[in-house]
Amino acid sequence: MKNQSSEKYITEIQRMKVEKNAIILAHYYQTSDIQDIADFVGDSLALSQKAAANNADIILFAGVKFMAETAKILAPEKRVLLPDLMAGCSLADSCRDEDFKIFIKENPGRTIITYVNSTAEIKALSDIICTSSNAVQIVESLPKNEKILFAPDRNLGNFIKNKTDRDMVIWNGSCHVHEEFSIEAILKLKKENPDAKIIVHPECELPVRMIADFIGSTSALLKFTKTDNANCYIVATEVGIIHQMKKENSNKLYIPAPPRDSTCGCSECSFMKLITIEKIYNCLKNEKPEILIDEDMIIKARKPILRMMQISEKLGL
Ligand code: SF4
Repeated sequence: MKNQSSEKYITEIQRMKVEKNAIILAHYYQTSDIQDIADFVGDSLALSQKAAANNADIILFAGVKFMAETAKILAPEKRVLLPDLMAGCSLADSCRDEDFKIFIKENPGRTIITYVNSTAEIKALSDIICTSSNAVQIVESLPKNEKILFAPDRNLGNFIKNKTDRDMVIWNGSCHVHEEFSIEAILKLKKENPDAKIIVHPECELPVRMIADFIGSTSALLKFTKTDNANCYIVATEVGIIHQMKKENSNKLYIPAPPRDSTCGCSECSFMKLITIEKIYNCLKNEKPEILIDEDMIIKARKPILRMMQISEKLGL
């Protein structure tokens, strides 16, 4: 429920958006109050597409740092603001550029496909970026004999490898939220709700993916709950997406998959949840913190993102 002070912030945010010609892009993992004030809510692919094609002077990114960096790389002429620079990502942090350069050297002659959940420096070392929405199709769009180096998520990488049967070497990174789901607790929930379908993000570990009725990106999971005829879902991804699921179809039941440690609230991304309405208000008011990336890095990191967007457009994704 919104309290009085958050109502005040929201009114001011709406006024400043018009005054400053700013838009708010929010990821599905943001809290519901933030999703509701955003001009656009989506997954990484949709948010990148939106960042590249809009008339705003300022993009305020309600998400984590690598997402705001991607927006800046795609729209360098715009000011891109991130309400809290500490909003990082355990997956992006698991792949540092000095280590990645060594990994590339150890595995020469491979096309480097990098998940969007990575820093600008890692993107600049890559040939093609992908998101969980288009990763399988991007790999399939390459010739069958093309050797691939995939980073940074090992679970998504192994999921793609199994689906496409391609020659892939995979960086050993992971997301602390998606790796925390407990298979025992999910199976217990399934026993209590036998009609529920288990829907799983590909960043989850293999045992969890193996019991899934459906595996897909955040937007694919949302679409699935819209079009599928079940009435109950056990949702194994960050809990923020359930807000959109309920908005799309409030008659269905959505149960968050429990983490291994039931006391830790681990199915919430602590980085995503650093963004608050108050921080968005302050950020828009003071026009900082701002994402700044040097020009050379923008040019290098932009190339593989544009390649992803071209392939996605060609495939109608
Ligand atoms: S949910 Fe995982 S991959 Fe997504 S931003 Fe949080 S830590 Fe990174």
